Amino acid sequence: NLQNRIDAELIKEAEILLNECAKISIIPHSGPDGDAIGSSLALHQYLIKKGKQAQIISPSAYPVFLKWLPGNSDVWIYTNGKKKAEEYINSSDLIFIVDHNSFKRSGDLEGVLEKATAKKIMIDHHPEPEQIVDLMFSDTQMCSTCEMMYEFIEALGDEDMIDESISECIYTGIITDTGGLSYNSSQPRTYQVVGSLLAKGIDKSKIHSNIYDNFSPDRMKLLGHCLDQGLEVLSEFNTAIITLTKEDLVRFNYKDGDTEGFVNYPLSIQGMLVSVIFIEKDDVVKISFRSKGDVPINRVARDYFNGGGHINAAGGRTEKSLKEAIDQFKKVLPEFYNSL
Ligand code: 5GP
Ligand code: MN
Repeated sequence: NLQNRIDAELIKEAEILLNECAKISIIPHSGPDGDAIGSSLALHQYLIKKGKQAQIISPSAYPVFLKWLPGNSDVWIYTNGKKKAEEYINSSDLIFIVDHNSFKRSGDLEGVLEKATAKKIMIDHHPEPEQIVDLMFSDTQMCSTCEMMYEFIEALGDEDMIDESISECIYTGIITDTGGLSYNSSQPRTYQVVGSLLAKGIDKSKIHSNIYDNFSPDRMKLLGHCLDQGLEVLSEFNTAIITLTKEDLVRFNYKDGDTEGFVNYPLSIQGMLVSVIFIEKDDVVKISFRSKGDVPINRVARDYFNGGGHINAAGGRTEKSLKEAIDQFKKVLPEFYNSL
């Protein structure tokens, strides 16, 4: 089915909210990725074209490999100016919650958003959305929130307002959320959307190069270290674990975003179904999970590591020590594996 997939009744309500509002906040999730930032920037540029006053407020900073995106300099980072951001949010009459579906994922903005009286619209593709908005566009069939943003704008009758710059933002989220259209992207409609974006004049090779060919030498060495010293293969459970200690991060001069994508590499080992990376940060261990096929690794993230996500890509965190976190994972792994 190559039709637009946005609910026609819901879009009428969105149209009313958009017509009535004067000031709009756009909020991606904390630690935003290409999809969160791409969809926020696309929405922002669209709303500005529509003559609206709108501002993207990111709960936290994001990696340098997203900073080339058009409109990047318009993004406010909440932690760099809390008062100004809170004032903007509190005086907004419409808030878009983008690429997440729970205020828990809004990071330091959680309390601010919970209290905000503005109408709220969610645009998201994660499972198990929470009822926190007035209008919810939530569809796990979409490969990315960016794909959904294309559909959202098209459903509003404004496909012609999607210019090259908005298309670059949307394309970025589609490829970063699908590993360059390698997973979670088997629906023909996704390629139709990509086709439309190409027709808007985007330079696909340039975008791929901006996102992927930008390692610092230190980052490349950190990856090498991960895959050598940091790797443990648990063959009997078709699972690989990568561990990164605080000392590793210091040694390789870690910058935000440097470990992005590392968790995917062990899935290239023959027979692997699950890959997990444990990263020791200052007061928390961050964990990313990836799996293949119908292995619901988001269940492990949700049940044991205060997180969640998609069936094949999830994340979580724990206050436990790095060793305790890994031990806990190894303890629950056999039961999870046997339940498959
Ligand atoms: P990543 O491993 O790239 O940080 O996250 C992979 C996927 O899991 C993303 O789609 C992200 O939205 C989701 N995710 C990451 N951390 C969390 C979390 O703490 N809670 C939930 N619900 N989802 C998460
Ligand atoms: Mn996403």
